[in-house]
Amino acid sequence: MANIVAIVGRPNVGKSTLFNRLTESRKAIVDDFSGVTRDRHYETAEWIGKKFTVIDTGGFVHGSDDVFEEAIRDQVYIAIEEASVVIFMVDVTTGITDLDDEIADILRRSSKPVYVVANKVDHAKLHHESAEFYAFGLGEVFNISSATGSGTGELLDAVVSHFEEEQEEDEALPKYTIVGRPNVGKSSLTNALIGKDRNIVTPMAGTTRDSIRIHYNQYGHNFLLIDTAGLRRKSKVNEDIEFYSVMRTIKALEDSDVTILMLDAQDGLEAQDVNIFNLAEKNRKGIVIVVNKWDLIEKDNKTMKAFEDRIREKIAPFTDVPIIFTSVTEKQRVLKVLEVADKVYANKTKKIPTSKLNEVMLDIIESYPPPSLKGKYIKIKYVTQLPGRTPMFAFFCNLPQYIKDPYKRFIENKLREHFDFTGVPIQIYFRQK
Ligand code: GDP
Ligand code: GDP
Repeated sequence: MANIVAIVGRPNVGKSTLFNRLTESRKAIVDDFSGVTRDRHYETAEWIGKKFTVIDTGGFVHGSDDVFEEAIRDQVYIAIEEASVVIFMVDVTTGITDLDDEIADILRRSSKPVYVVANKVDHAKLHHESAEFYAFGLGEVFNISSATGSGTGELLDAVVSHFEEEQEEDEALPKYTIVGRPNVGKSSLTNALIGKDRNIVTPMAGTTRDSIRIHYNQYGHNFLLIDTAGLRRKSKVNEDIEFYSVMRTIKALEDSDVTILMLDAQDGLEAQDVNIFNLAEKNRKGIVIVVNKWDLIEKDNKTMKAFEDRIREKIAPFTDVPIIFTSVTEKQRVLKVLEVADKVYANKTKKIPTSKLNEVMLDIIESYPPPSLKGKYIKIKYVTQLPGRTPMFAFFCNLPQYIKDPYKRFIENKLREHFDFTGVPIQIYFRQK
């Protein structure tokens, strides 16, 4: 199940500063590859071994001052419905404002875990000043300084205590989900697959109200389609709000094994799509990219290749991902999507026999050993695939700390070359033997 932490609060209290601290999203390295600007308002984080997604709601408020308060209210409603835990941030240096009070009113009426966080408590002498926030009636006030990080550990201890343990349910059937921006053709694809032929559809009561699971068992494919789109909202907040669709996407994605990321061929891969792609990669999901509405593109024999190249440039360094060009309305390559998703799922779950792995990889390593460092030679003696729901490999060697990223990438490429992990993020660890 998806564990989502939403940071709400009025502007300038420090939401994005905390977000950056929790996700370390200042890492610029990955961004440099793709050349797209990413607004990262949601990102995976981890605390004491528990993974979750943090959302900075401030990143979704655009526009002038008068739409501002309305937008913030909407977000608080959505956060209450969709998040696992809500962090309500206030600013100790300004004290309580009217908007703070309004947000607190909404939060008080919900049963979701809410943490009041007094930010900018940079010095011990500010601690007592935050006592006024107890007036919200929302329980304990956590003093933190997002700038220095002080107090964030205690806050996270409390936050992660609400997370559901990962359930090993429905282990037998692969779970796929179709995500993408509005209007790319997600519902059309779902309808094309399950359509009016109700015989092949078994809507399953989800374990939560977040999604519907459709059991597809036809033409040799057998999987669960995680569908969030069909569900109605509880509150009356506009469903087109970007923040809302992002929440839904994250949940569907985290609940699935393979993410089918759908694009509109007329727009190509945009920054938001790259965000979703990254999230899927970080969550170690299988990925299939579907470029839909291919019928609307004027093309010659070079168009598809050029399109593919452009996408791969933007998703680098993880480019070993299948890209399929579809027209759902013209029924072109619709079943191909399932074929490829099945293949990606198979890649994600397969186990390479240790003997085979050593035979292939130790040969390569012998021909191209890791470069020596400070006069020391690194010897990799043995490799094995670790147990898990996603491909992980341990290379045992004498000096694991001396192996640098370029060599790790080289090893990853060789694994992909020889064993086919198309569409699947793989993890490589070097360990002391
Ligand atoms: P947001 O609008 O809620 O996302 O707020 P920002 O994260 O953009 O922060 C607003 C301002 O407060 C920025 O100038 C930050 O540098 C500053 N700020 C954020 N956290 C702290 C903190 O813990 N201490 C201090 N002194 N300033 C902070
Ligand atoms: P969603 O918001 O992603 O679920 O998108 P929809 O499935 O509702 O599709 C949005 C619009 O795009 C609808 O008018 C569809 O008929 C149209 N559409 C979907 N797939 C295709 C396609 O392959 N080609 C063309 N030309 N239009 C499509």
